[in-house]
Amino acid sequence: MFKALVIEKDDAGYRAAVKAVDEAALPVVEGGVTINVAYSTVNYKDGLAITGKSPVVRKFPLHAGIDFAGTVSASDDARFKPGDAVLLNGFGVGETHSGGLAQKARVKADWLLPLPAGLSARQAMAIGTAGYTAMLCVLALEKHGVAPGAGDVLVTGAAGGVGSIAVALLSKLGFRVVASTGRPAEAEFLKGLGAAEVIAREELSAPGKPLGKERWAGVVDSVGSHTLANACATTRYGGTVAACGLAQGMDFPGSVAPFILRGITLCGIDSVMAPMARRAEAWARLARDLDLAKLDALTTEVGLEGALTAGPEILAGRVRGRLVVDVNR
Ligand code: NDP
Repeated sequence: MFKALVIEKDDAGYRAAVKAVDEAALPVVEGGVTINVAYSTVNYKDGLAITGKSPVVRKFPLHAGIDFAGTVSASDDARFKPGDAVLLNGFGVGETHSGGLAQKARVKADWLLPLPAGLSARQAMAIGTAGYTAMLCVLALEKHGVAPGAGDVLVTGAAGGVGSIAVALLSKLGFRVVASTGRPAEAEFLKGLGAAEVIAREELSAPGKPLGKERWAGVVDSVGSHTLANACATTRYGGTVAACGLAQGMDFPGSVAPFILRGITLCGIDSVMAPMARRAEAWARLARDLDLAKLDALTTEVGLEGALTAGPEILAGRVRGRLVVDVNR
């Protein structure tokens, strides 16, 4: 038996609870790999899964958790052997396949990455899907020519998981980072991560004009809706916006003006089905470019019960930085 955060949906309704489950509850995966999970995390999507606020989980019962790091305990695939340290993000794990908020997981070998050199399992999950997505955003900005010295880079939802790691990464890389937050009390936290300036969420979150004063060389947006539209409208000529989230909303109430008059680029960022080569690049860069002291400063550790109570908290925007889950605590 092992412990898991189990999501169930039946005649009695939708519910999540930490339970003891039998190993037979793990998915049958031909040629798969079984992992003793060490750490998982609570991402925004895990909050949706735990609360049932959006139909993220599409198979029941299911162990929640869209990411994990741990050690291989059994493998039917030649690429992995018992004792190997591995991590996983996405691929529908925690949505349609039992995931990482559990002491054991069984997954396809194709979904696993070796734990990057230089990162412990705890550090990899303190980064987690949110941090890896932040890195995908940074890579997109770089690939579109946004370089340190080009001008200010805006990070929205800055005190959240994606946002706080984006702030830490971009400042370490030499960018001047402007952090947008709805929590003014977190200004010092954000400056500690490397933000040069902190602005109020309200500057960007209300309906705006098709074009505004040119401010940003690049943007990492985890918020969507009017914030994303206003970020595009205030991006400088030729600048790039990386859009990865929807904390404000899934809508995009903007105009084509920034695209056809200022030649800006809007890059969509998906972490779930990103190809392995891009994942490996992102994790290698995280191991190289993220200040681990800053990672520690933005991380809070909880156990499986703490993950359960964190579900509604992350959706309410009340989680600061990252929540790492010690599933054996
Ligand atoms: P968090 O909850 O940790 O961060 C989201 C932040 O957004 C909050 O901390 C808050 O920051 C801000 N925010 C919350 N509500 C609102 C609102 N109504 N209006 C404006 N800002 C708001 O979540 P994560 O960092 O884990 O995820 C962020 C987003 O990115 C989510 O939408 C998630 O689904 C998405 N995501 C997408 C991925 C992909 O593959 N594309 C992968 C990972 C995440 P503050 O208090 O500083 O304003």
